[in-house]
Amino acid sequence: MSKNYVIGFPRIGEKRELKKALESFWEGGCEFSEVRKVAKELRKRHLLYQKNSKIEYISVNDFSFYDNMLDTALMINAVSKRFKGIEDKTELYFAMARGRDDLKALEMTKWFNTNYHYIVPELSENDEYRADISKIEEEYKEAKELGINPKINIIGPITFAALSKREDGGDTFEFFEKILRVYEDVVRKISKLDKEIILQIEEPIFVKDLNSKVLSLIKPSYDRLSKAADNIKIALITYFEHAKEAVKILVNTPVWAIGLDFVYGKENIEILNYFKNSDKVLIAGVVDGRNVWINDIEKSVKLLENISKYIPKQKIIPSTSCSLLHVPFTLKYEKRLDNKIKSMLSFAVEKLEELNLISKIFFEEKLDEKEEKALAKNKEAMKLKNSFSQKREDLKKKAENLSFDRELEFKDRIKIQHSILKYPILPTTTIGSFPQTKEIREVRRKFKDSLISKEEYEEAIKKYIDEAIAFQEEIGLDILVHGEPERGDMVEYFGSLLEGFAFSENGWVQSYGSRCVKPPLIYKEVYRKEPMTLKWITYAQSRTKKIVKGMLTGPVTILNWSFVRDDREKKDVAFEIALAIREEVEDLQNSGIKIIQVDEAAFKEGYPLREDKIKDYEKWAVESFKLSVSLAKPQTQIHTHMCYSDFNDIIKTIEAMDADVISIETARSGNELLKVFKRVGYTREIGPGVYDIHSPRIPSVEEMQKQIESFLEVLPKEQLWINPDCGLKTRKWKEVKESLKNMVKAAKRVRDS
Ligand code: GLN
Ligand code: ZN
Repeated sequence: MSKNYVIGFPRIGEKRELKKALESFWEGGCEFSEVRKVAKELRKRHLLYQKNSKIEYISVNDFSFYDNMLDTALMINAVSKRFKGIEDKTELYFAMARGRDDLKALEMTKWFNTNYHYIVPELSENDEYRADISKIEEEYKEAKELGINPKINIIGPITFAALSKREDGGDTFEFFEKILRVYEDVVRKISKLDKEIILQIEEPIFVKDLNSKVLSLIKPSYDRLSKAADNIKIALITYFEHAKEAVKILVNTPVWAIGLDFVYGKENIEILNYFKNSDKVLIAGVVDGRNVWINDIEKSVKLLENISKYIPKQKIIPSTSCSLLHVPFTLKYEKRLDNKIKSMLSFAVEKLEELNLISKIFFEEKLDEKEEKALAKNKEAMKLKNSFSQKREDLKKKAENLSFDRELEFKDRIKIQHSILKYPILPTTTIGSFPQTKEIREVRRKFKDSLISKEEYEEAIKKYIDEAIAFQEEIGLDILVHGEPERGDMVEYFGSLLEGFAFSENGWVQSYGSRCVKPPLIYKEVYRKEPMTLKWITYAQSRTKKIVKGMLTGPVTILNWSFVRDDREKKDVAFEIALAIREEVEDLQNSGIKIIQVDEAAFKEGYPLREDKIKDYEKWAVESFKLSVSLAKPQTQIHTHMCYSDFNDIIKTIEAMDADVISIETARSGNELLKVFKRVGYTREIGPGVYDIHSPRIPSVEEMQKQIESFLEVLPKEQLWINPDCGLKTRKWKEVKESLKNMVKAAKRVRDS
């Protein structure tokens, strides 16, 4: 068997079995023992998938009922005060993950620049850490029973400390010593499980720009962890970027192997000479763990050969670039996907085969018949994939000489806009969507499955719009929306209408807990075939004398929430999408739509992990947005919306986007995070959310009045818009009606006071 290594495997199940079991348990539909049974079965299947694909280094403890950071917190007994009394382990686990009626859940945030969200542990001075490896032990035994000698995955102490927060305020590294000590205990306990064990310690934090304090912790930590038990070999794994600074230190520690990502950290190739006088094994991430396209096998083998100029072949283990958690499970169930497109794709299970092929070829082992076939198929598919990278000349032409800038500067535009739009001070509006009722979802589904005619479908959508418009007029909102009944998802909707996108049926990726997302696939050049929203927005506008705001999703958000081809620059794809949105903006404007909102909900998500790469991202991201709206006439008002509240780091970039109005998600942070707008002298108009739409609670008039008044302490009334903090599609009509009524009243009271 040739050597190869999988950093981690998806756990939600090929048919999202874990999701279903968990959700049934949460709703009281089954006992937890039932979930355990499903989980055990899944783990077994996942191990066998890997074993049968001839993977040598297979993980345990990559499974989780909710999240690995949460598991790590429990592995060392880092339980914040408010959960302390909960005896039952299962109850404690899910209380920390999801909260309880009487208890706030731990915070959740994005895992580096992926769309996976981890639970943020809360540490405090008085914590007493204790090593509990029962979960690891259980999974280790399961693997052994299947004849697998697994490696054991844990998140490293430095990453754990860096990503946790202090319950009592302050720096988590202040008591790093305590954390390290319990990790030593973990290592010792694990060492008892077998004669010899490989322990995969993941330190993805090493790919960020580390300060000297954190850097100084690396050597002592890994000296000590390596010495904690002599039958343990540590594989120190990094991913998502290069880890230059850390590698330089790690080669001088006793760790057995270092894992580097050569897909997303191309610079790692420049630091291979650090390995020269060391005995370290290199775990070489060459199979993309974050994207869904087939691997160019020849290219990967070449890359490995390149690496072997610095490191002897027998010290190299080909690997996935990161855990396969970030890609969908298998292509097996894709029945509707075009066969050509399908042949260009590789999900987790298919990546195992790729990895096996790559390592066999690299180590010059004979391929069996099946493998020969797979290799031939790969070559064919690569050809096909490359043939899809052709671009249309006419589109290229069209994109030349377009200006990123609008005709007039903001200060001149806004005067014209005020004279035409005539909205009052503190104008009220919403972010776009209204409740996605069961009926409207059903209408969309039936239309998609051809169970109802186009006429019936359009009637239903129009009826929804009619009601939405009537309601908004009735409560006296100033700027109306059509309510987005035709869209389920803000990216999928545009993707399904644009050329260049494809959709899998079962390409689910875990986003958090039991939640999964199914990102669209951008498999070739993107362009607009026909208007996408025009019909609905103009219909809505025809039903009222008030202004209806047109609603589009921005290019950066569409890009960041899709799987983009790995052989294309993101920037180029973003520009293509921008051109498509631009055409839509033009159509809307020409049809008399006076305000157009281009949502960039996921703008911040695409930020690179390394400081020195941020400028470049910001440049093309801003340019894409600007390109999509720059043909708006001075009198057309451009709005954007972002699902964030903290703009401290990116305020200049937000300003550079040059939107006339931005709505943001400040409802939970009061006016604190708004201050940055004042500090930099931001002059454009802002709609900070006056209430939190993520909860069913109906905010009172007084409460929102206070919120608005607190905004006014920071920003002048001429600059403020009044709106909820995000779209209302996840809410019920009853909540929305009451809340918005109160919101309009609150705005009136402040205006009149
Ligand atoms: N216009 C979208 C909506 O209201 C924005 C959604 C979002 O920001 N995620 O649903
Ligand atoms: Zn939002």
